[in-house]
Amino acid sequence: MFSFAHAFTGGTIAYAAENPLVALPLALTSHFVLDMLPHWNPDIPKEKKKFGKISKKTQFIIFLDVLLALVLGLFIASLAYVKSAQTSSFVRIILGCFFAVLPDLIEAPLLLFNIKGEFPKRLLKIQSKLQWNIPLPWGLITQVVLVISLFLVFF
Ligand SMILES: [Zn+2]
Repeated sequence: MFSFAHAFTGGTIAYAAENPLVALPLALTSHFVLDMLPHWNPDIPKEKKKFGKISKKTQFIIFLDVLLALVLGLFIASLAYVKSAQTSSFVRIILGCFFAVLPDLIEAPLLLFNIKGEFPKRLLKIQSKLQWNIPLPWGLITQVVLVISLFLVFF
């Protein structure tokens, strides 16, 4: 699943759960749950096998995804800060976003730059089994619907 969907979910969890000891483990768990929902994202291992590298199009998609994740995360964090007037709320939500994307972040050096490590390799193996991949456009629609539904929490 895309980072923007992971980050927004983690941020929403941290917005709702004020105790970081509850929010952060939940945010991390949400990563694996979300990957089990039907979704589409670029298949980086497959692209590398086929072309020996990541295509320009996929690089651009990753860039947009990360940008959107940052914008959405900062949006929730700012909202919580305005509501509570506490810096700790802002920090908790940014951490919530971070924990929700963490498994993919651990794999990023391996996937994007071929920096090998035993733990990322094992994690990638587990994660690739959890994925429910479906084709476009539905694979993107599910993620957009997820984010829009979560948006309702804020109103
Ligand atoms: Zn993942």
